Formats: sequence, C-alpha cells, structure tokens
Amino acid sequence: MVEENREAAGQQASAGQQAPAGLDAACREALAAITAQGLMRHLRPLSGSGPWAERDGRRVLVLGSNDYLGLSTHPAVARAAAQVAEAGMDVAGGVGTGEVGSGGSRLTAGSRPAHRELEEALAAWKGTEDAVLFGSGYLANIGAIPALAGPGDLILSDTLNHASLIDGCRLSGAAIRVYRHGDADHAAALLRAERGRHRHCLLVTDGVFSMDGDLAPLPALSALARDYGAWLMVDDAHGTGVLGEGGSGTAEHLGVRGLVDVQMGTLSKALGAEGGFVAGSRVLCDLLRNRARSFIFSTAPAAPVVAASLAAVVLARGMASERRELWENACFLREGLEGLGFRLVPGEPRVPIIGLLTGEAGPTMAMAAALEERGVYAPGIRPPAVPPGRGRLRVSVTAVVSREDLSWALERFLAAGRVTGVLGR
Ligand SMILES: *Cc1c(COP(=O)(O)O)cnc(C)c1O
Repeated sequence: MVEENREAAGQQASAGQQAPAGLDAACREALAAITAQGLMRHLRPLSGSGPWAERDGRRVLVLGSNDYLGLSTHPAVARAAAQVAEAGMDVAGGVGTGEVGSGGSRLTAGSRPAHRELEEALAAWKGTEDAVLFGSGYLANIGAIPALAGPGDLILSDTLNHASLIDGCRLSGAAIRVYRHGDADHAAALLRAERGRHRHCLLVTDGVFSMDGDLAPLPALSALARDYGAWLMVDDAHGTGVLGEGGSGTAEHLGVRGLVDVQMGTLSKALGAEGGFVAGSRVLCDLLRNRARSFIFSTAPAAPVVAASLAAVVLARGMASERRELWENACFLREGLEGLGFRLVPGEPRVPIIGLLTGEAGPTMAMAAALEERGVYAPGIRPPAVPPGRGRLRVSVTAVVSREDLSWALERFLAAGRVTGVLGR
C-alpha cells in the first residue's frame, strides 16, 4: 500500500496536468485485492461485558479477551473511574470538578499528580526506579525504541515480535536483524557477526508472544545482553498481571527480575483499563520523557482511565489466588483441546493464550464461524497477523470464566472441528 502510494505520487508528479485518480477508486481497488486474498476484515461489535456477550443477536461465551483478571468490569476499578469523571482527579487536593480529558501533553498542561502516582505504582510493581506512562502500549513501543536506538545502532528482534515493536524498530532508523523465534543461539550468532560494527545495541522481544502464548528465553537473552554490551527490552503486554506470584510478569516468572533493562507493558490487557508504560531506571525514564515522540506529542491519558489503571494495579498485585485460577483455567482448556485432538501451538501452560492451528485463511474463518454458531467466540487470526499457513483461532481464557463454561465450550470446539474438518486433518 505504501509502495503503491509512492508510485502513484510519482506518476502524478510526472504526468503534470493529469487529474489524480479518485481516492475512493484507489481504496476500492486496494480493498478488492484484500478481498481476493480472503483477508477482508469487518468490525462486528460484541456487546456486553464479562465472559458472556452478544454478537449479531447471539449469546456467546467470549474466549477471545485479554481482560485476563476480569479487572475491566471490577467494581472498584469502575468506581475509581466514575469518581474521577464526576469529582476530578485531585479530590484530596480539593480541586473538586469532574474531569475526563487531560487537555494537553504531560509536558505542557496535561500532567496531574495521579499520572505520577500511577507511574510510581508501576515502578514499584516492576521493581524499577521509575516508569513512564504512554497513551497506549503501541505508543509506548513506537516512542521508546527510537528514543533508545538510531542510525549507527543495531536492533535484534524476534521474528514473531508484536507489530508495535516492529514499527518502533523501523521508525528508529537503526540496523535491524531479525532472529528466529525464541532462538537465542541465532541471536548470539547475529551479535557475533554484527555487534562490533555498531555503537549501541538493543535486544527486543515480546515476553509472552501475543499470538503463540509462549515465552521469550529471557535468561539466555539477558546473558547475551550482558556478554555483548546490549540492552534488553521486553514487551510484557500479556505477562503483566498474569505471570509470577506477584503478577509482575514474565521476568518474575522466569527469575530474571532486575535483568531486563527496558520493561514495557500495557494497562489495557490484564489491567482492564487503557494505556502503556515503560519501567526502568530513572535516567532511562528521564530520557524517554525528553525524546519519545509519542510521549511528547500526544495528550496525557484521561483522568478516569488513569484512576481506573491505578486501582487496577493495586488490585492486580494482590490477586494471587485469581492468578492461580487463571493458570488453572489455561491448563484445563489447553489440555482439553489437546485431548480432543486439536493441533495447538506449543505454549507455556500458565499463559492464557492458546493457538489452535487451522492452516490457511479459509478453514480458519470457517472454524471461527462454526464455533460462533454454536455459541463460542474465539477470533480467527489470518495472515498478515501470523505467517502464511499458520492461521489459527486465538483462544484466550480469563480468571472469571467458570470451569463448567469451559467444559461446555470444549464440546462446541469438538463439534465445530468435526464439521469444518479442522479436526482429523
Ligand atoms: C496489545 C499489545 C501491544 C499494544 O498495547 P495497546 O495498549 O493495546 O496499544 C503491544 N505489544 C503486545 C505484545 C501486545 O499484545
């Protein structure tokens, strides 16, 4: 699309007087190409909250949410947001009028004591000196990476890293080398060959891979970072709140807390709110506040969202028993699907993301539709979100879905797998 646009712009310039092709016609043409590949997407709203919702008039059990602890509907989280919307963020300070939008960037008129409080709570949870809040996880990644690496520097990136990491790497202008998924030996070989020719080096990886549900080899990667004078950045969007006794994430789970230099996370998944952050040393955070463009040139997160996030962080730290429930649900569903004969992406058992492999886009969407007809919603994931031939249902589970509902869902998986031929392939 970008290339096509460039070509179109070039043609236009050289054609001089010639009228540019209509925008709608160009959009139609691009959409036709997407449709021809079987990759056309439509938004189909899901209404209701919690494990059960309604889609196109049908009641469905949602096995596709990242709200792993059910915090998006937790009464204390909702109350925190509502109070701030009605009475303002600085109730204690006596300011007293309700507030939604923050009115500016953190560096101009937008910064509130509550933003700072949330950053401090995140830093304490992650075990770092400081943290910086961003409007979303996506914004955190596309802001932080170019702030830390640029032309003359080297970035090593896992081939299955999240799109926001990939975009951040591209924006940085650094040399990018992609290593095979989870393969620290491949990363080491690339470092041996390339490290000497670059000034700084950043190793970038998802902590929990968002589509596969497996973990990055953080112990090996942190050792590489040490040996090669590189910095390790981990995107723990799906580990935060989910892994480790204290829920601080993949580093805690793998016993490498303190060895990850740049800890990115999101407030929009297990924390049930919205926003992103980077936790790390004080100077790292100071640099991000001065150099990350998505921090500098974007409005500070809205007051009710900040209040909800803070309530969620406090709750999530203490939700050890809910986390255990979540891990047990994840194991139960994984073992159940395996027992039925489905081919799964080998993932970490505690991670509530299960990739049920379906192959090409056709059977992927057929399986998702057959399942939905039977009352279970799990999104079908097609290329380009996953590599060609690796289409899947991304089945995710939360702590708040009951074991009975999961057993009921497994029967629906079996029926849908049979009718679509996904089972027994
Ligand atoms: C969802 C996700 C993000 C983006 O976070 P948002 O807060 O949704 O913008 C970044 N990285 C990974 C691995 C994710 O899964």
